[in-house]
Amino acid sequence: MVVYEMLQSGRFDEKEILLLDKDPKRSNDRTWCFWEKSRGEFDTIVSKSWKQVLFANDNFKNAIGLSPYEYKMIRGLDFYNLVFDKLSTAKNIHFTNENVVDFAEHKTYCTVKTTVQDFSCSKIFNSILNLDVALAQDKYPVLRQHFTGWFIKTEQSVFNDRQATFMDFSIRQHGNTRFMYVLPTSPTEALVEYTLFSKDLLPQEEYDTAISAYLQKLSILDFDIVGKERGSIPMTSYKFWQKNSKNILHIGSAGGWTKASTGFTFKNTQKKAKSLAAFLQTRDDLRKFHKTSRFWFYDLLLLDILDAHNEKGCAIFSSLFAKGDETLILRFLEEETSFTEDLKVIWKCPKRLFARALLDRLLK
Ligand SMILES: Cc1cc2nc3c(=O)[nH]c(=O)nc-3n(C[C@H](O)[C@H](O)[C@H](O)COP(=O)(O)OP(=O)(O)OC[C@H]3O[C@@H](n4cnc5c(N)ncnc54)[C@H](O)[C@@H]3O)c2cc1C
Repeated sequence: MVVYEMLQSGRFDEKEILLLDKDPKRSNDRTWCFWEKSRGEFDTIVSKSWKQVLFANDNFKNAIGLSPYEYKMIRGLDFYNLVFDKLSTAKNIHFTNENVVDFAEHKTYCTVKTTVQDFSCSKIFNSILNLDVALAQDKYPVLRQHFTGWFIKTEQSVFNDRQATFMDFSIRQHGNTRFMYVLPTSPTEALVEYTLFSKDLLPQEEYDTAISAYLQKLSILDFDIVGKERGSIPMTSYKFWQKNSKNILHIGSAGGWTKASTGFTFKNTQKKAKSLAAFLQTRDDLRKFHKTSRFWFYDLLLLDILDAHNEKGCAIFSSLFAKGDETLILRFLEEETSFTEDLKVIWKCPKRLFARALLDRLLK
């Protein structure tokens, strides 16, 4: 996304850019969803979009009309193909598949070491996530959004493909924050994901058993599993950007670009990549790129609560997505609300929990 935005800006034609990835990115390794108003930059590869999403728990079901937003889905492979087609038109951008083992900043230049060779350059943008640095500290909790999804196909029409299930908490929580996420792409096809926001991953069969039980609950008994997807996305307010230096910038999840409270990264990365491409046109010192906002602190409070009381996720997200101004919540999660609007959102949340988390955090 960063190199794509640099190319789109037309301002880096004089630079030699090397993109290093151990993986050629030729497989459909993930499905991205994000909400967006009207037309978007990647609309040509959006494979499905929904104008309505469902939020559910044991007590209520809320079908949320998203207007002016749509919830859009992009297949990873379509994104890689689009980006690499575009990059292949630029003579100054090269893509090499090598495993990076080290990189460093020296006085006047940087070096990158792969298993094959060494490179020197003036700037490094690193997206290799090192979660160990976050796990080695205890100031900021580190949770994960971890999930397994099944792509299923049925004979009969069983899905309402005009509505995606954003969060369905009407499943056993087992002391955690656990929900189902369903993306129906047609009446007979859907991606059904069992998702947790918690510290520890589960044994693989537990995710599979939960999906199976959920499909049974929906009376979907006759289906084929045509694919699977797994993921573990870091949810933490750990300040990855503290490791940025004059000439090395950590980007993507490795740079803290994942929204800590939700795991959503795609849209945030698009925004950051655009502002980085603009920043680089006039500034040189990469330590100046990161700006901490008040949303970082809100996310931290939520994670403090989920870390100490992982079972409270259902109550917190239910209070946010109960009937009311739900698109305000989407704007809040996109970090595009005013401070007064933030207060409206925060007011919907369980107050004692957040007051306690605030107090504990201030005393830390
Ligand atoms: C299955 C899945 C589904 C997701 N769905 C969503 C979603 O719906 N919405 C959303 O907003 N976010 C989603 N995310 C989260 C997030 O958007 C993605 O993880 C996103 O790809 C993060 O971008 P990134 O650049 O930080 O990391 P990546 O896209 O993982 O890129 C890092 C790259 O570094 C390469 N690499 C790693 N180590 C080395 C090495 N030593 N040498 C060379 N190359 C190396 C990898 O091959 C990889 O290509 C999802 C994540 C996963 C895994």
